[in-house]
Amino acid sequence: MIMIRMFSGVCTAAAIAALVSATATAQQDVTARARAIHERVIALDTHNDIDPQNFTASCNYTMRLTTQVNLPKMKEGGLDVSFFIVYVGQQDPRNVPDALQAAGYERAYRAAIAKFDAVHRLTEQIAPNEIELALTAADVPRIAKSGKKVAVIGIENGYPIGEDIRRVKEFYDRGGRYMSLAHNGHNQLADSHTGEATGEWKWGGISPLGRKVIEEMNRLGMMVDISHPSKGAILQAIGLSKAPVIASHSSVRKLADVSRDLDDEMLMAVKTNGGVVQLNALSGFLKVDPRERGPAIASLRAEFGLPAGGGRGGGAAAVVVDARTRRLRRIDARSKRERRRPTAGAAVVVVPRLGLRRCRRIAVPSSTESWRKSIGSGLRPDARRSRTTSIMWTTRSS
Ligand SMILES: [Zn+2]
Repeated sequence: MIMIRMFSGVCTAAAIAALVSATATAQQDVTARARAIHERVIALDTHNDIDPQNFTASCNYTMRLTTQVNLPKMKEGGLDVSFFIVYVGQQDPRNVPDALQAAGYERAYRAAIAKFDAVHRLTEQIAPNEIELALTAADVPRIAKSGKKVAVIGIENGYPIGEDIRRVKEFYDRGGRYMSLAHNGHNQLADSHTGEATGEWKWGGISPLGRKVIEEMNRLGMMVDISHPSKGAILQAIGLSKAPVIASHSSVRKLADVSRDLDDEMLMAVKTNGGVVQLNALSGFLKVDPRERGPAIASLRAEFGLPAGGGRGGGAAAVVVDARTRRLRRIDARSKRERRRPTAGAAVVVVPRLGLRRCRRIAVPSSTESWRKSIGSGLRPDARRSRTTSIMWTTRSS
């Protein structure tokens, strides 16, 4: 009995060893094949959010910033093409009464232009020898072949075009090659996926203006992005568009039942339309967290004195050394109190912390007024002349 057991144990161990070695070889094969494919094809990411603060002379994508995408990381990771995103968040008329009026549209428009300008600064002034803006499909292989990285512009949320259909052409002329009609919240063009939470809809899909916008996008050659609008709006957009649509960053509802993901009906409609779905690998789109996870993480963060996390720009902080007191101090990027009242004249040095995503170098002037101005203009006055000190300002993206 013992002998048999031992024998069978040896056999099992040998079998396992053989299996492990075969699996390891197979794994190496798969990895090698995957690498070969990766090197052969043009690798493209269709949705990379940007912050114009990372597109300045002193802080930009030629540097190894903590952003997920920048030129050093694109080179190392073999990413050839990045869609940089002109994203403008949707304001809610319940909180911002003029959100869907002229003044609100104007604010959104300015925010969009700052992002268009940022991409043009990168490709035309900061690093024209390293990255070039593609305006046609043919530009992409041409630029990639030249050894440069390829930038393309996608517009996330049609909100900033306001009610002026001519802005679709303007955004196209500024380089926008796809646009989603809505983001998180209904707007003048379409319903958002967020309506699923309450079952409240503004248009029951796409608004009359949104329909004209799709027509204009088709005319110009701008892709209709179906990531973010409601299911009704997505199905109507697919029905209206004469060209294939894309989902620039959505996933599959069968995996995670969240309103941002596409169900089978939507996926089949995209298939019929000849469109493309680019999967979003963000965890919330792939695996729904158990209910207890959020509160558990919140209490952990509280225990370690970290700011509350989550969301676009949420939970960002920089740890600084106050040279006057020689003590560590945490600055919460979302804290308005810190923004308004920096430590006047105190020298601060940044200690980077994991989880930081963007950098922004600004000066801390000695008065609150000039502090506000420096944030507004993005200028970095000479530290000696203005008797100011530097701080690296960081926020986290998602
Ligand atoms: Zn998005």
